[in-house]
Amino acid sequence: MIESKYRPTVADVSLVHIVDNLKRVMEHLPEGTEAWAVVKANAYGHGAVAVAKTLTPHVAGFCLSNLDEALELRRAGIKKPLLVLGVVPVEAVNIALAENIQLTVTSQEWVDDLLLLDLDLSSLDFHIKVDSGMGRLGFRNSRAVNQAVLSLQVKRANFAGIFTHFATADEVEQEQFEQQLNIFKSILTDLKQKPERIHASNSATAIWHAETVFDAVRLGDVLYGFNPSGHVLDLPYPVKPALTLKSALVQVKELEIGATVGYGATYRTSEQEWIGTVPIGYADGLTRSMQGFKVLVDGTYCEIVGRVSMDQITIRLPKAYPLGTEVVLIGDSGDMTITAQDWADHVSTINYEVVCLLSDRIPRTYSHGDNSGN
Ligand SMILES: *Cc1c(COP(=O)(O)O)cnc(C)c1O
Repeated sequence: MIESKYRPTVADVSLVHIVDNLKRVMEHLPEGTEAWAVVKANAYGHGAVAVAKTLTPHVAGFCLSNLDEALELRRAGIKKPLLVLGVVPVEAVNIALAENIQLTVTSQEWVDDLLLLDLDLSSLDFHIKVDSGMGRLGFRNSRAVNQAVLSLQVKRANFAGIFTHFATADEVEQEQFEQQLNIFKSILTDLKQKPERIHASNSATAIWHAETVFDAVRLGDVLYGFNPSGHVLDLPYPVKPALTLKSALVQVKELEIGATVGYGATYRTSEQEWIGTVPIGYADGLTRSMQGFKVLVDGTYCEIVGRVSMDQITIRLPKAYPLGTEVVLIGDSGDMTITAQDWADHVSTINYEVVCLLSDRIPRTYSHGDNSGN
């Protein structure tokens, strides 16, 4: 998808906020804890290369979800350790080795398939994934872990890490978390070989279970200034949203009473109304379920009226505004704010999904200061 530059819709990312958020979390963790920044999915829509370049001096490495994402960072000149969290096809392992990209090992079948290729694995840094209760990727018992480690060590691969992932670190209820922690710890106890590092913490675990930090944390959502639990748990310290999303009015018109707006004619004016058109739509990640939500114009909330189109939304304005007037979709305007969490609440999802869905059509710009507009 091509970035649309000749359109006023832009997402600006404050890189300073991301660094501040990282420091904020790390200062609450034991001294010496390694920080790995999770920049998968284009750094949750914020731009992986820019975020990784900025965080390079502050982290031990970066986590990606697949090999292509890791290669993107290498091509951009990022030299730091990179760990792919997902399963890389064995046929592509040679590419990872050539680029010094660390891999996650999740099953003996995968190890066996890899060994059949008879590659020189002496430069492979691998992390064993333990499935302690996500039911997704990873080994479920210590015998299987030891077998996989041994098979790879025979080929001189380096046991760089072992990790697990919690399903409920962002919830009030603790039982599932404790259960997963116990399973992980018992597998650690049974390890025949010790890896270089043990890691178990996503953002929520690092924030609300700081005692569970082993050697390293894998921070995603919180770096971008979000509460990973949504509204379930309060953050013990504030973080700052990094992304603002702005556009501008490209058409402003006064519609007579009884006029219809948008596909399906779902909105009908109940009086003479000023309607503004803003060039952002579901192809940008502003989904159709955002109908009825609001944007900010000149410090005032304006409702999105009528259906969200692929490329446009229509909003009800309190009065006439000139073309080019700023429309804030995520961020501050005057004393008012709209957050990605507000979007998530409106469509019953999580803040992660809102920012990940912002499409490549929206240009990302980067500021090194505070981008809130204040
Ligand atoms: C995405 C991911 C993370 C980061 O999670 P956040 O909640 O965004 O901090 C950490 N570990 C794994 C395995 C992940 O897939």
